Amino acid sequence: ERLRLDGRVAYVTGGGQGIGRAFAHALGEAGAKVAVVDLVLAKAEAVVCELSLKGIKSLALAADVSKPEDVQRMVDAIVARWGTVHIACNNAGINLNSASEETSLEEWDKTFNVNLRGLFLCCQAAGRIMLNQGYGKIINTASMASLIVPHPQKQLAYNASKAGVVKLTQTLGTEWIDRGVKVNCISPGIVDTPLIRSQELRPLVQRWLADIPAGRLAQPTDLQAAVVYLASEASDYMTGHNLVIEGGQSLW
Ligand code: NAD
Repeated sequence: ERLRLDGRVAYVTGGGQGIGRAFAHALGEAGAKVAVVDLVLAKAEAVVCELSLKGIKSLALAADVSKPEDVQRMVDAIVARWGTVHIACNNAGINLNSASEETSLEEWDKTFNVNLRGLFLCCQAAGRIMLNQGYGKIINTASMASLIVPHPQKQLAYNASKAGVVKLTQTLGTEWIDRGVKVNCISPGIVDTPLIRSQELRPLVQRWLADIPAGRLAQPTDLQAAVVYLASEASDYMTGHNLVIEGGQSLW
């Protein structure tokens, strides 16, 4: 009962595939209305089709989370449709892969613009509405890479940006809790998504598998209960927390 989200309004950035898509399904199945937000509108629309087939009220929106005007437009569109925002899943992120000594400034900036600046913009835009109504749940997607340095390396900008996600979450989580807004993050290990199956990352997967005590990659479904929990009143005493779901990988 305390895990139900009936009457709640949620959005998920990067909701068009992978982890974000799984989050959108989980929140919708728990009773929330869900705005699926993605850089690529067609991907968001495809997920909205899936949700509609399950009878979940949903809305597809295009936004680049690194752009303030896009983020504001996203929040305005959700408020116009459903009146407010209760649950913000700031999940969009990118992982560019290069040796640190070869990482270009462009790559560094792109990574930070999506993974950290985008998160700041979304937390701020959604947070203002939540602070006004004295209620909100923000769930950021960090990564196990916020804690450990997964082998092999070549993830300098990504790892640094995800460590930033955790500190942003801790800071907002403590700053806003007395006004009813809880901010937590989820740190997945290696999850079987299109990101992981990309050209750049595919060669690393075999290496990573050897580092996972669970003996397999995570599936997006392995993360679904966590996002529902953090979105629900069952987690009301939690804030600034980094919920790590990695099959034990960070312990080896
Ligand atoms: P993915 O690449 O499969 O999906 C990400 C989605 O985000 C895509 O649909 C993409 O179009 C969208 N997106 C990219 N840039 C965007 C932007 N600027 N604005 C809005 N949408 C944008 O990725 P995923 O594996 O599902 O990862 C989702 C999140 O989980 C990311 O933050 C990622 O860093 C994190 N994560 C993934 C793994 C993993 O192993 N897959 C592990 C730890 C953390």
